[in-house]
Amino acid sequence: MKRILVTGGAGFIGSHLCKRLLDEGNEVICLDNYFTGSKENIVPLLDNPYFEAIRHDVTIPFMIEVDEIYNLACPASPVHYQYNSIKTIKTSVMGAINMLGLAKRVKAKVLQASTSEVYGDPEVHPQPESYWGNVNPIGPRSCYDEGKRCAETLFMDYHHQNNVDVKIVRIFNTYGPNMNPDDGRVVSNFIVQALKGEDITIFGDGKQTRSFQYVDDLVEGMTRMMATKNFTGPVNIGNQNEFTMLELAENILEITGSSSLLVYKDLPRDDPKQRQPDISLAKKHLNSWEPSIELREGLLKTVEYFEALLRQKIAV
Ligand code: NAD
Ligand code: UDP
Repeated sequence: MKRILVTGGAGFIGSHLCKRLLDEGNEVICLDNYFTGSKENIVPLLDNPYFEAIRHDVTIPFMIEVDEIYNLACPASPVHYQYNSIKTIKTSVMGAINMLGLAKRVKAKVLQASTSEVYGDPEVHPQPESYWGNVNPIGPRSCYDEGKRCAETLFMDYHHQNNVDVKIVRIFNTYGPNMNPDDGRVVSNFIVQALKGEDITIFGDGKQTRSFQYVDDLVEGMTRMMATKNFTGPVNIGNQNEFTMLELAENILEITGSSSLLVYKDLPRDDPKQRQPDISLAKKHLNSWEPSIELREGLLKTVEYFEALLRQKIAV
């Protein structure tokens, strides 16, 4: 049994990761300030005596004896990370410093949840880890993109200077149950709009692309990454199936049987036009890891989750 710290453990991905680590027989400590996460996401875990939830902000140092740290704390939706951009960059940078300092002290392995956003609006397609990216350092997305880039730098510096055992995963757009209905990202927005019969908000002409990964595939990749020896990454973890936002909307309308209409809104500034991971490195280093859940299958499970959630909210 390992003792594992998960920051951002009450969030969408963090809650799935905590469950997976508990199911494998580990002791899990979840740190969260509940900015975008929710207690509902971790309620099902509270009965497990090996699970502990602590309200804490990662910008403040935290002391604990653990074997592994997964550092996920950071708002991930553009709406939420732009709400208080200074806090977002503090969370990424000071959170990384605090978790790396802890890892150094207690000799724990530490994994950083980085992002495909480090590639910005990419001019290389698909994106391999060797691509340095095309990021605007002073735009509305910079607090997130540059915060995550700086965190990667800190992880590699602690590795080279202090021999900390670090792992960096660059996560591409991920979706699934436990997303907040007000999260603001495209999959949850479209599903909630379709289920409520509201207009589907397409930003721009809807021809921009993303490659959507179901959360179980990501969690599998992250745990495999933590188990690697002598490999720091960064490594891309994502699904290579690329869709336009219009195709995503059509899929969701078909699955939900909704008659919601598409409405077109302004494209947010610096919105990347295309995104698709090159996952050769993940296949090579993570025991032939590759995503196994297709978009339709993942969307069905996610729609089911939101249907139940909305029914519950109406009942209350
Ligand atoms: P999320 O917003 O659901 O989860 C983030 C969690 O971090 C929330 O529980 C939030 O309350 C917590 N948090 C935020 N600031 C904090 C702070 N200062 N101290 C303590 N806790 C704090 O988002 P998610 O999709 O689950 O993302 C988790 C991680 O994965 C993030 O680091 C994100 O950048 C990264 N990521 C996610 C995606 C994706 O598509 N979901 C893609 C790339 C990277
Ligand atoms: N998007 C959209 N409608 C929405 C929310 C998002 O068309 O209601 C678009 C957004 O402009 C972007 C894509 O969907 O091009 C993915 O947005 P998201 O915020 O989910 O993730 P990110 O841009 O960070 O990849």
